[in-house]
Amino acid sequence: MSTPLRLSRSIVGQAEAEAVSRVIIEDGYLGMGSEVKRFEEDIAAFLGVPANHVITANTGTAALHLAVQAAVEPGREVLVQSLTFVASFQAISAAGAVPVACEVRPETCTIDLDDAARRLTDKTAAIMPVHYASNPAYLDDVYAFAQRHGLRVIEDAAHAFGCRHDGRLVGTFGDIACFSFDGIKNITSGEGGCIVTADQTVAQRCRDARLLSVENDTEKRFTGQRSWDFDVTRQGWRYHMSNLMAAIGRVQLSRLPGEFGPARKALAAIYREELAGVPGVTLFATRPEDDIIPHIFVVRIDAARRDAVKEALAAAGVPTGMHYKPAHLLSFYGGGRTCLPVTEALYHEIVTLPLHPGVTAEEVRVICAELRKALAA
Ligand SMILES: *Cc1c(COP(=O)(O)O)cnc(C)c1O
Repeated sequence: MSTPLRLSRSIVGQAEAEAVSRVIIEDGYLGMGSEVKRFEEDIAAFLGVPANHVITANTGTAALHLAVQAAVEPGREVLVQSLTFVASFQAISAAGAVPVACEVRPETCTIDLDDAARRLTDKTAAIMPVHYASNPAYLDDVYAFAQRHGLRVIEDAAHAFGCRHDGRLVGTFGDIACFSFDGIKNITSGEGGCIVTADQTVAQRCRDARLLSVENDTEKRFTGQRSWDFDVTRQGWRYHMSNLMAAIGRVQLSRLPGEFGPARKALAAIYREELAGVPGVTLFATRPEDDIIPHIFVVRIDAARRDAVKEALAAAGVPTGMHYKPAHLLSFYGGGRTCLPVTEALYHEIVTLPLHPGVTAEEVRVICAELRKALAA
């Protein structure tokens, strides 16, 4: 392998640079304005939803925070899998709500609804399924569970932009979905994210709260105006996206269907083919592969050998990751006071292998050969 392999990276180039330079030179307005409006319209068109269902933010975490604040009263509880990026938990606690750590199903690393049911209280207001490794697994069951118990659903779809559940794009059905456009996700706007919801009360709250809850400020900025006389009735934040970010995001979105999506799918298919049946490796179950644009490729390695395998891969020039340290083990979220045996066992088995459109098919085959070699040692 000539250039060093990276676990993940942004794939950006001339087109993104030209888009940013167009905003700087031709427009000169770098903040939130018409380019952000166009990015929201482009996302809506891609998803096939009305433009007012899409609200961009400056990170995926901000999108989740805005969504929780809009849909869940402070002091109420949100069921969420512990095995997720800490952003899911931080977004809930930032809104003054309480994240309740749940187990995952070991075959998909998505929320275990039997475990979640045991954690329901009269304070439970919402459930936040995380589409781990881009798989919106059992999402119908999540919605049935939410309906049974009168809960809002806030999908942490940070991994799942462009992915489908039973043929339908994530974000086009259901309650509230939040995506991330950070540098290494399926598409990037530098940093960034968005909320997608049909609920116009939630949408308007998010739209206002990303601009300090100045009422209807978005609508003014989209036409180049400012708000001088306004009212504020809720807590807000400076979470809006800039025109510079939107310019990058619009180019990236145009590259997803023809370039990034097929590349990520093809590489994941090679991993699956090369690693199927290899002793010591367990693959996560996946939906029909065509439904998923994988953001990360994670395998389970027998816990006794996991760390040695990671070291052997590192020595062979293959960087690996670990998505994620369970949030219930972090001091701020109880420091392991709750015991989640399935999650804790998985934590010692998961290994993330390099996946991004800059990796070649040949490199994936070499990585798999190194992995098999490490396991045979
Ligand atoms: C990336 C990510 C987020 C947060 O998105 P940012 O854009 O990085 O703030 C939230 N949840 C999960 C599962 C993620 O992977």
